[in-house]
Amino acid sequence: MINSVYLDLDDCLNIFTPYVLASLGCSINALHYTGYKHEWGWDIVEAATQLHPKKRFSARSFWQSVSPHVWADAPLSDLFSPLIQLCQDTVGFENTYITTTPSIDTASASAKLRWINKNLPLELRRNYFLTPHKFRLATSKSLLIDDNEDNTIAWKRNNGISFLVPRPWNSLHNSSFSARRLIPKIEKSISTGESNV
Ligand SMILES: [Mg+2]
Repeated sequence: MINSVYLDLDDCLNIFTPYVLASLGCSINALHYTGYKHEWGWDIVEAATQLHPKKRFSARSFWQSVSPHVWADAPLSDLFSPLIQLCQDTVGFENTYITTTPSIDTASASAKLRWINKNLPLELRRNYFLTPHKFRLATSKSLLIDDNEDNTIAWKRNNGISFLVPRPWNSLHNSSFSARRLIPKIEKSISTGESNV
């Protein structure tokens, strides 16, 4: 049985990647992942260049074009409400944490905190870790829920249990993305202490 849950923010609790691409004028629905090709993997800059009608982006020009408001205003995913409820019902809010990796730009860290403050229940608003080293938090009874496969692999390597959220850039890109399908699977990982990949 899992006794603590670590929730990723971008593209788990919120819809980040399509939203940021749409905010830059790319041809993609801001609220859906269907326009993002698996072959782009983690390369959001390549995705932006392919999807934009005119512009080509470098990593530098891409991230310079992203307004910090995008992090703060990213819409809730369909996982958000049922996942928060599931954490409250199983491990409790006192054992639920947000783990998120800010970019090197300090504006991203502060915008992520604004998102947390705006959207999460009061009890969770200070339960966060801003770190690129999530695996340091892993224990044999902690579950990481994340769309970044590097994170879920590192978490497991450090004895933790992980649940990979299917997204176009990871190995579960052909699985259902819907919360209705995913929540029972996450519930199972919490009760059995087994990773999903
Ligand atoms: Mg993420």
